[in-house]
Amino acid sequence: MIRTVAFYTLGCKLNFAETSDMSRQFSAAGYQVVDFKETADVYVINTCAVTAIAEKKGRTIIHQIVRRNPDSIIAVIGCFSQLSPEEIAQIQGVDIILGNNDKYKILNYIDHCDKQRSVTSTSSPSDFVLSYSSDDRTRTFLKIQDGCDYFCSYCTIPFARGHNRSARIADIAHIVEQLAQQHVNEIVLTGINIGEFGKHHHETFLQLLQVLETTPIPRFRISSIEPNLITEEMITFIAASTKILPHFHIPLQSGCDRILNLMRRKYSRQLFADKINSIKQQIPHSFIAADVIAGFPSETEADFMDTVQFIERLPLAYLHVFPYSERKNTQALTIAEKVSPIEKKRRRELLQTLSTQKHQQFYQQQTDSVHHVLWEATQHRNTMYGFTDNYIRVKKTFDCQAVNTIETVTLSHLDADGIFSVDSHK
Ligand code: SF4
Repeated sequence: MIRTVAFYTLGCKLNFAETSDMSRQFSAAGYQVVDFKETADVYVINTCAVTAIAEKKGRTIIHQIVRRNPDSIIAVIGCFSQLSPEEIAQIQGVDIILGNNDKYKILNYIDHCDKQRSVTSTSSPSDFVLSYSSDDRTRTFLKIQDGCDYFCSYCTIPFARGHNRSARIADIAHIVEQLAQQHVNEIVLTGINIGEFGKHHHETFLQLLQVLETTPIPRFRISSIEPNLITEEMITFIAASTKILPHFHIPLQSGCDRILNLMRRKYSRQLFADKINSIKQQIPHSFIAADVIAGFPSETEADFMDTVQFIERLPLAYLHVFPYSERKNTQALTIAEKVSPIEKKRRRELLQTLSTQKHQQFYQQQTDSVHHVLWEATQHRNTMYGFTDNYIRVKKTFDCQAVNTIETVTLSHLDADGIFSVDSHK
């Protein structure tokens, strides 16, 4: 009888790429992959530990699945497993707990699974597995790098994912050729700290971009890159590129130098501003998003307002705002002055309001400009959606012929839902 497997993924695009890879492994081994809501012989939960909320979500899903399917094999893998295996082992009904290095051997563990005795394996993450995912028929997330050597004081990722390591350019080019044959039109380059790509085998991220420019895939997006690793050469290359899209996601975290120092970030606010201004000068239509943490320990009202005013002056298009979350074994735990949960919430909301204003401003600036949209497969009430090269959401009446095609459009009608409509009759 054919065995079935269902996956649940939490967290970042890296996790999604890795789950996709495992799903292909299971299919190759003869399993049928079914929806997580269905009954399956095996459940795999790929967890996240970046914040306390992500861990809580993981716990809830594990409890639900154990209650619903006591006879299935239940495997919990990924960052939460890597960091807190003892806690997961206490949940009755979990059979297999695998950290980030061991999760790729999951089929072996399932073959030898004994429902009476759970197994845990969390060797320190050191392997690199080149993975890719498809979130629909148009976009693929390609993992080119893993791990991080920075040890920012609030971050648990270096403990969960291990040291910086990456794929070789030749191997990436090979996968990209395969994806081109599958008619993938956009690849999102994904990693934990992708600006550090290639460091240990004398390759650079810029060299990778230069090679990708010569491949048949028309669009590459860079998922997120540290400000200190963006070089002038890189910006100039992207400005002239026809394939590397004008979309940047650059973690800021704080606009106050004292807090940046405490966070052990590798840049000052001046460096951040210089990079943003240089990108905007060379690529005026580029979309730039930044991550910001609200309520880092000891952040005063004055520090916070420093951040707000700094962001107000910058040509950013969007903010990803996170309330500071305490993580085990991180240095920030030793800072005594905490920001209260109510105050963290107030600061987060203020930053989110600022983000909405910035986003609207960017969309207004882009009105009447001409861009290329990649149309997605999802259909909602006879409408289809896509993103422009510079990450503007666009819609039109559904046309199945348009799915996975790139169309040149003029952004002239911004609808009440905040999405540009490009139907020609409007
Ligand atoms: S750069 Fe800092 S925040 Fe980002 S993964 Fe590395 S340690 Fe964490």
